[in-house]
Amino acid sequence: MPKKIAIVEDEPELASLLEYNLAGQGFGTRVFPGTQNTIASLADYRPDLIILDVMLPDADGFHLCREVRRHSALGSVPIIFLTARSDEVDRVLGLEIGGDDYVTKPFSPRELVARVKAHLRRGDPVEEVAANGASCRGPFRLDRAAHRVYQDSRELPLTSTEFRLLEFFLTHPGRAYSREQLLQEVWGEQHFVTPRTVDVHVRRLRERIEQKPDTPVYLTTVRGFGYRFEIPDQD
Ligand code: CA
Repeated sequence: MPKKIAIVEDEPELASLLEYNLAGQGFGTRVFPGTQNTIASLADYRPDLIILDVMLPDADGFHLCREVRRHSALGSVPIIFLTARSDEVDRVLGLEIGGDDYVTKPFSPRELVARVKAHLRRGDPVEEVAANGASCRGPFRLDRAAHRVYQDSRELPLTSTEFRLLEFFLTHPGRAYSREQLLQEVWGEQHFVTPRTVDVHVRRLRERIEQKPDTPVYLTTVRGFGYRFEIPDQD
């Protein structure tokens, strides 16, 4: 699923330029002209990152940034400010009130895209632990206490074995595991399981988490060995 970038910008030409460059890199985009109710529209869209113009018609970008940070569903979304003002005070203020980065107009679209990618990658390789003990990796959130896994905030309907298998993969990403290792780790000492059992459950799990189970992006086959789970790079 492509990462979604919200572009909060009232100048149509600049918004189009940003959309063109981001879409060309495979990102989903939506432009918000920055008028009233932007915060509600953003909450509907659920962006992975927000590009936020400081100078907006109804409110300034700083005000909107504060609203985003206070919002329960948007609070941790990276924000890159776009500012025409090269004023040091504005830059510092933008970062102090919760912006993650800023780009001063005029900017090179290439540089902006590079910043977007860098901020999206930040959280990916390491496991982030949320305040309630749930851990997040890419679009997945694992709540061990509640025995639930969410993908893009949607709860996955998993059997107990699928849950244990996905839990193992989420906590051991990037490494290839053989079927025998997975049996040992996930099924433990059960005598009625065979390596074929692993294949069956991997196939079912792919149907839950992959957009196209036949060409998986998260749970891939390591030919002649077993399986690997990883959050793909956006590049
Ligand atoms: Ca503007």
